[in-house]
Amino acid sequence: MRIVNHLIHGEMIAGTGRHADVFNPATGEVSKQVALADRATMQLAIDSAKSAFPAWRKTPPAKRAQVMFRFKQLLEDHEAVIAKLISEEHGKTLEDATGELKRGIENVEFACAAPIILKGEYSRNVGPSIDAWSEMQPIGVVAGITPFNFPAMVPLWMYPLAIVCGNCFILKPSERDPSSTLYIAQLLQEAGLPKGVLNVVHGDKEAVDALIEAPEVKALSFVGSTPIAEYIYSEGTRRGKRVQALGGAKNHAVLMPDADLDNAVSALMGAAYGSCGERCMAISVAVCVGDQIADALIETLTPQIKALKIGAGTNCGLDMGPLVTGAARDKVKGYIDAGVAQGARLVVDGRDLVVAGNESGYFLGGTLFDNVTPEMTIYTDEIFGPVLCIVRVSSLEAAMQLINEHEYGNGTCIFTRDGEAAHLFVDEIEVGMVGVNVPLPVPVSYHSFGGWKRSLFGDLHAYGPDGVRFYTRKKAVTQRWPQRASHEAAQFAFPSNG
Ligand code: NAD
Repeated sequence: MRIVNHLIHGEMIAGTGRHADVFNPATGEVSKQVALADRATMQLAIDSAKSAFPAWRKTPPAKRAQVMFRFKQLLEDHEAVIAKLISEEHGKTLEDATGELKRGIENVEFACAAPIILKGEYSRNVGPSIDAWSEMQPIGVVAGITPFNFPAMVPLWMYPLAIVCGNCFILKPSERDPSSTLYIAQLLQEAGLPKGVLNVVHGDKEAVDALIEAPEVKALSFVGSTPIAEYIYSEGTRRGKRVQALGGAKNHAVLMPDADLDNAVSALMGAAYGSCGERCMAISVAVCVGDQIADALIETLTPQIKALKIGAGTNCGLDMGPLVTGAARDKVKGYIDAGVAQGARLVVDGRDLVVAGNESGYFLGGTLFDNVTPEMTIYTDEIFGPVLCIVRVSSLEAAMQLINEHEYGNGTCIFTRDGEAAHLFVDEIEVGMVGVNVPLPVPVSYHSFGGWKRSLFGDLHAYGPDGVRFYTRKKAVTQRWPQRASHEAAQFAFPSNG
């Protein structure tokens, strides 16, 4: 059986203790095993990153960027291999995996601008013969802990930027689909990254706790579910670390009575059922303003949900693959059962889907509920599966109140032709990423990604300008070169230009 090992100090290091099974979700078979690091193995990676830091922080940003230019090319050259690795372990379709990789590459492109990003600010003559500047210095050893649902893109949100800012990085990927993440890191080594600047250590809670507790690790970026995000934020900040911890979501789409229905339905189909709903920006609630748009939406959506092409993600031309594990599939099924028990109307039931030839795969069909109310668990909880819930309300204000009262605030969108309604929505909605007729408003790499409320713990969002702030600390320098011949007496009043 193939074992997925650690990448430490530029070498593949075999696991010494526990291992976990990695499944092919389309067949239900164990395809590989992944090493789960113990504390001693994690310490090897921390020591490696620490030893690489002094030389790397002194490497000119333009040289750091040159590694990223080569890395970008390698990623593009190996796009098909990476997409297949993602699909084989995550289950998402090849087209979706390729899309994820392309969005990840955009973050590498942003990191290629390191010399411009790190230019700093300069002010001449802030006092007599005195100049001042602010510069951004790296933090040191920093770490990232990432979820299963974007094994290529989410790590690429983190380490390219952290590294071009002069830091050394330890990545702890999801143990459920580690192969593409490791392969991509190996391409970065091939691009010329010095040993130890990026280490990849697989593992579970033991490995993560070793990172949280290590005094050498100065900052933690986390993306995953809300309970773990909250744990990592509180334990990390308690130890004086800088932490950004992105959590779960429940993303609502508001359909106004004047929405362009056909386009809204196409947008909802992709946003609710793409990647089997396993996206933190997936739309899982459609809030319909008025019964007319709700009835029309159900009539148009229903046949399209029933016609979803579902199968092994590695086959081309499909809409949806399986869920990532049997446990994930059973959890989503449990939510559908609960929705029925709690009184929602099940319009399309995906529970009994069988994919011919893949009978043991973790498949579910697209599912649609109507008449969902705010106290039902299918409304309160993140289901993370192909389930769309329709909530009926009578006004835009009621729709916004519903969204603002939800504990999560990652993404949302409004479908309308009314500019005034869209303006009000954008202004007053308590959500971090908002779309107007755009169902998945994932910011491009030169903006930053982050939710509000219990979707993000910390102050700075991921990647883009906030990512630069997160992975650097500011130093303000005030400089004067006195003229040789002059001598000034001591001044005891606080220096000022007054
Ligand atoms: P998860 O929280 O189970 O795992 C995320 C990471 O934390 C993994 O590397 C895992 O090994 C580690 N981990 C798990 N349990 C741990 C524990 N007890 N102690 C320490 N570390 C632990 O999340 P997941 O199931 O891999 O991913 C899905 C979740 O991630 C969803 O909730 C989704 O909304 C969220 N997500 C959020 C964003 C965002 O940007 N907000 C993006 C992608 C995914």
